Amino acid sequence: MQKLDTFDMVLFGGTGDLALRKLVPALYRRHVAGQMGLDSRVLAVARTSMSREDYLAQIEASCRKHLGADEFTEARWRAFAQQVDYVQVDATEGRDFRRLAANFTGRDEATRVIFLSTAPSLFTGICDNLAFSGIVTPKSRIVLEKPLGHDRASAEEINRSVGAIFAEQQIYRIDHYLGKETVQNLMALRFGNTLFEPLWRRGRIRHVQITIAEQLGVEGRGQFYEHTGALRDMVQNHLLQLVCILAMEPPTSSDPDAVRDEKLKVLRAMRPITGSLVQSKTVRAQYRAGAVNGQPVPGYLDESGVAADSTTETFVALKAEIDTWRWAGVPFYLRTGKRLQERLTEIVVTFEDVPHSIFESARAPNRLVIRLQPQESITLTILAKTPGETMRLKPVDLSLDLAGTFKEQRLDAYERLLTDVVKGNLTLFMRRDELDAAWRWIDPIRDGWAQHDDRIKTYVAGSWGPAASSAMISRDGFLWQDET
Ligand code: NAP
Repeated sequence: MQKLDTFDMVLFGGTGDLALRKLVPALYRRHVAGQMGLDSRVLAVARTSMSREDYLAQIEASCRKHLGADEFTEARWRAFAQQVDYVQVDATEGRDFRRLAANFTGRDEATRVIFLSTAPSLFTGICDNLAFSGIVTPKSRIVLEKPLGHDRASAEEINRSVGAIFAEQQIYRIDHYLGKETVQNLMALRFGNTLFEPLWRRGRIRHVQITIAEQLGVEGRGQFYEHTGALRDMVQNHLLQLVCILAMEPPTSSDPDAVRDEKLKVLRAMRPITGSLVQSKTVRAQYRAGAVNGQPVPGYLDESGVAADSTTETFVALKAEIDTWRWAGVPFYLRTGKRLQERLTEIVVTFEDVPHSIFESARAPNRLVIRLQPQESITLTILAKTPGETMRLKPVDLSLDLAGTFKEQRLDAYERLLTDVVKGNLTLFMRRDELDAAWRWIDPIRDGWAQHDDRIKTYVAGSWGPAASSAMISRDGFLWQDET
């Protein structure tokens, strides 16, 4: 694997959950893979007063916990730790940034990556202080974690303030789903093969389903989730990004803007769900007490930090339509929820049925199932004859287990995205206009709920969501994949 150019990775929020669970372990892995040269550094930044040794002890404990037993060794750890430092900075205190700036003397040649893994309310202040203290150079890059706003106006506010300091080409807006191998494989499947392209359209595809199902609840983050909900937390970013990659026209090249231009066209072509349409095209619901994997779990209203009369949705299902020649009349059903029966991320493309069957046995349309979680796989279901005298057809699977097929080491999404930032590859990051177009589609759904759908539905934890979700899709004559 190619060594990365010398970099300084500045992790704002270096003591936070995301840094400890994902970012630092990802950097450790890239170090072990030989991609982080001896002159590259990780500078963790947070308000807490602690020594470098205390910080190293904290990340060592979390790396031991979050890395595989065969990945963590004392020797590797010591080598990695030598390149990590901690700087105490209160992001709201301009003078603290002088202390941070002192770390960059003589380091102008290094690629400077500023990763903001803090609450977005700090983004503007951090950018202003970085600029004021001279930390931002033309070679600097800034990485923004979600949530990028809670609606279009607040996202625009973040974009404007970050954009006042950094050029668009320096801004990396993360949606970690785009760092997943299978999501990139979706591009390989569509644009590296001739097989699917003639079929990838109306007249050949009947409908598409995308499910992101979690078994977890809010895991003690009820207070955060109360202000977010499933629509903002999962649909606005991950689900819409998957729709874009599935539905976009073939880009002219793999150049970041060529890809992002095509994704943007999809977002702009999505038919708005406004006013009373939210009642027929969306379902929102909240989990009640139930059991997941045989273990009893409380309802959302009993989670800590959640208001007793909360109407925050933990489940959303919706019917999206894309008004283009390619997709007119092909519904995209999207659903996501917490405390569902399984942990699963899956795309199901159902093809048109044969126009006329010469066989007596039951018909079943071809299906392409692309599974992102828990195992990464691609399965094409076709009909085959069961052995015997009669012509009895049965659906069988042509399956590709991606982890089993490729022996190469798989990169975790954050490993991939962090290395892309250092390399300056923007393809897997959202552009400002994409983010704006996503919020433009999402905001009217929230408004519609407020005006026309004031009673939230419920579902039992451990189920596949409320009955209304099945009813929404069955009105069009279809079933969710788990119901087939
Ligand atoms: P967290 O655990 O609450 O950590 C917040 C971090 O920000 C801590 O390191 C905190 O350290 C630091 N911080 C807070 N105020 C600060 C200030 N004034 N100056 C400098 N540092 C300050 O949050 P998190 O879960 O890591 O999430 C970080 C961001 O990523 C959030 O916006 C979150 O929504 C997003 N995100 C998180 C996840 C996840 O899995 N955790 C996933 C996707 C997105 P001190 O208290 O020491 O200052």
